[in-house]
Amino acid sequence: MSKQFETEAIRTHLERTDFLEHSSPLYLTSSFVFEDAEDMRASFTEEKIRNIYSRFTNPNTSEFVDKICKMEGAESGYAFATGMAAVFSTFAALLDSGDHILSARAVFGSTHTLFTKYLPKWNIETTYFKVDASEAEIEKLIRPETKVIYAESPTNPGVDILDLELLGKIAKKHNLIFIVDNCFATPYLQNPIKLGADLVVHSATKLIDGQGRVLGGVTVGRSDLVREIYLFSRNTGPALSPFNAWVLSKSLETLAIRVERHCENALKVAEFLEAHPSVNWVKYPFLKSHPQYEVAKKQMKLGGNIVAFEIKGGIEAGRKFLNSIKLCSLSANLGDTKTIVTHPASTTHSKLSEEDRLQVSITDGLVRVSVGLEHTDDVINDLNQALIS
Ligand SMILES: *Cc1c(COP(=O)(O)O)cnc(C)c1O
Repeated sequence: MSKQFETEAIRTHLERTDFLEHSSPLYLTSSFVFEDAEDMRASFTEEKIRNIYSRFTNPNTSEFVDKICKMEGAESGYAFATGMAAVFSTFAALLDSGDHILSARAVFGSTHTLFTKYLPKWNIETTYFKVDASEAEIEKLIRPETKVIYAESPTNPGVDILDLELLGKIAKKHNLIFIVDNCFATPYLQNPIKLGADLVVHSATKLIDGQGRVLGGVTVGRSDLVREIYLFSRNTGPALSPFNAWVLSKSLETLAIRVERHCENALKVAEFLEAHPSVNWVKYPFLKSHPQYEVAKKQMKLGGNIVAFEIKGGIEAGRKFLNSIKLCSLSANLGDTKTIVTHPASTTHSKLSEEDRLQVSITDGLVRVSVGLEHTDDVINDLNQALIS
């Protein structure tokens, strides 16, 4: 990146039209016209790089992708309708029948379903390693057919931290493609490509939109890999809508300032919870008590906006806590301006056995807080009254 993060986020935009607009216009158009037969021929053979059809590219999605590439230090990228479209299309484009994925165990719920239910239909198997696995433990799981190492950090909902530099080193040594879901950190807090990742995936639905409005996703990284992902996607149709791209590109202008405040608020909430008598423990990457605090400090600029804590009293206490919440929202989203609380053991992860839940750090009393941008006094008052009620 030639300029600073905040400047690129604001000053990367489409070329101005003859109207000399200051803010990028919205190009709500399915297709683009050609001057003549020769123009059309050269465009389809890619001798000319231009917009043809919005399933392939669109000016608004290109602006959004360009910004994310600059923020992540990536060569190129492609934008998707959702984060899961990005995750699925990335694997579908790069893997063949018989390939093997090595993934950290704590992954987003739908990614877990993709690994265990859908990719096996095409004879693609996944093996999990523990979030705190050593280099030797991970290397033992590598097979001749292993093609990808996949990880998220911080993880959802346990807020564990994986050492991305270590995973990058293992991937390089064994010639594997290293893919990181960087959704919880955002490009402002962490740049996996600088730590050895080949590709970075985002759900733009979360902190990138940041206001709970639109869905979106993006994959950026090595241009040879992105080329495969682009060709797969232009034929299978998971493209981001220009409208959502326009919203998301605007959101990126304020990403740094929003995330900075999210992190400041989250640290205050984490410190409040850590001192609370109804709480067994708190997990937040920038609390000294976090088991991977040193790794978090090394690879993240700030701790993010997600705080996990264990309420005393297990499942029942967790449900009672949710029922007592007044200001915060009970919602499946995260990374919104509005603070959101969830109780995974009785909701999102209730179908897993207790043993499987524990493997991904979800104890019965685990509560996840996505700390928003309200005044922290009000958020803390709400959490406090719900904890003591
Ligand atoms: C939400 C989320 C996804 C999926 O994104 P969608 O936009 O909801 O499809 C993937 N990974 C992580 C870590 C997420 O939090």
